[in-house]
Amino acid sequence: MRKIAFYGKGGIGKSTTASNVSAALSDLGYRVLQIGCDPKADSTKNLTGGRSVMTVLDAIRQKGEENVIAEDILYRGYGNVWCVEAGGPTPGIGCAGRGIITAFEKLEETGAYEICKPDIILYDVLGDVVCGGFAMPIRGGYAREVFVVSSGEMMSLYAASNIISAVRHFGKRGYASFAGLILNRRNIPDELDLVNKALEELGGDLTAVIPRDPAVQEAENLGKTVIEALPGSAQAACYRSLAEEILKRSEDKEEEDGGSMYGAFM
Ligand code: ADP
Ligand code: MG
Repeated sequence: MRKIAFYGKGGIGKSTTASNVSAALSDLGYRVLQIGCDPKADSTKNLTGGRSVMTVLDAIRQKGEENVIAEDILYRGYGNVWCVEAGGPTPGIGCAGRGIITAFEKLEETGAYEICKPDIILYDVLGDVVCGGFAMPIRGGYAREVFVVSSGEMMSLYAASNIISAVRHFGKRGYASFAGLILNRRNIPDELDLVNKALEELGGDLTAVIPRDPAVQEAENLGKTVIEALPGSAQAACYRSLAEEILKRSEDKEEEDGGSMYGAFM
């Protein structure tokens, strides 16, 4: 099994990139589980025809902690990609990150992983602050390879830098590692140079450059990924080659230390 995380600043294109990669991987025959770890809860919406699925936290609020079953929180999207949204707390009450921890616990308790039997788990995580719950995929042994999605904009590179530091400091026993930066272009001047310069300082390399392309909005308006809506487009080819690159840069292995398969160090 591969366990991959996409981190990055809010609005930078994590979910767009993640769901296109999930769709491309499912086209290659992999069983994929995409877990949205953003209180916005829209990670998987382009895999599910644009509809919002019940989040883990909403399911808990509506049914009660003990009554949630796997079927409440697991949805099948395009190409049978399994979709989960952790969800967020009631605004003003509770910590957004705590929701992620609760969601991970619920997935395990309800036997959701045994239903999905994923070859690849893709965590889509908001990386503006890498504290508490948002660091959970890194600190808890959930994700093995961490890819950071960034543009060349300063705030986005600043978030990237924080995420990379967190992976280096808190990736327990070196379990999680920074696997590369995905440049999702905003087309600011000298964007590629800015990103390469930042990478020289941060250490690590550029996994892929994704162009800014109106095909993304066109597909999004249909509630679809580019892979589904415009499979013959250049942008779809770009996401397919990113998916191949991620396969090359991630390890496919079982857990060997007797920890839980999904959160190795919980
Ligand atoms: P995040 O998950 O990081 O918050 P999203 O994936 O939701 O960000 O992206 C925010 C918006 O940016 C999306 O609504 C999408 O339309 C747009 N977007 C993302 N990547 C691209 C791209 N490569 N080309 C054009 N638009 C993009
Ligand atoms: Mg998102």
